Amino acid sequence: MTTVERYEKALAVLDEYIREHNMRHTIEREQLLKFVAEINKPLFTIHDLDSKRQEAHISLPTLYNSLELFVSARILYKLERTKGVISEQYKWALDAKDAMRIICTRCGREAHFTDKAIQQIVQNRKYANFVPAHFSLTIYGVCKTCRRLLIRQNKK
Ligand SMILES: [Zn+2]
Repeated sequence: MTTVERYEKALAVLDEYIREHNMRHTIEREQLLKFVAEINKPLFTIHDLDSKRQEAHISLPTLYNSLELFVSARILYKLERTKGVISEQYKWALDAKDAMRIICTRCGREAHFTDKAIQQIVQNRKYANFVPAHFSLTIYGVCKTCRRLLIRQNKK
């Protein structure tokens, strides 16, 4: 997906979300969404947006609030990781390939997979008083490398 395609897709999702929640459209939000779409990293933090935010004269609280909104609208995922300090990282949520993934709980290794059968089950399911927009599926477990290490450790 190109930056423009990403932005347009995200903007459509945001428009829908804003309409559903009777919120107002703001130019700042759209600008920030564009900056987010331009980031070329799988994971990013609020600092990655700071220079562009300052250039565009957008306040830090507006950036925080907008990122929260993008998470609520399922445009971004928020990952809270603890590595000595708690840091919030964001990840683009709209790429189809991100919808299904496996994560190793020991080393954090992550891989994507697609399964048409699961996709169909989820898309065809009906929910009471709820209209689904997107879904993500994460399967937690232990990767091959970590499993091998565990077996070796247990033998000692
Ligand atoms: Zn592992």
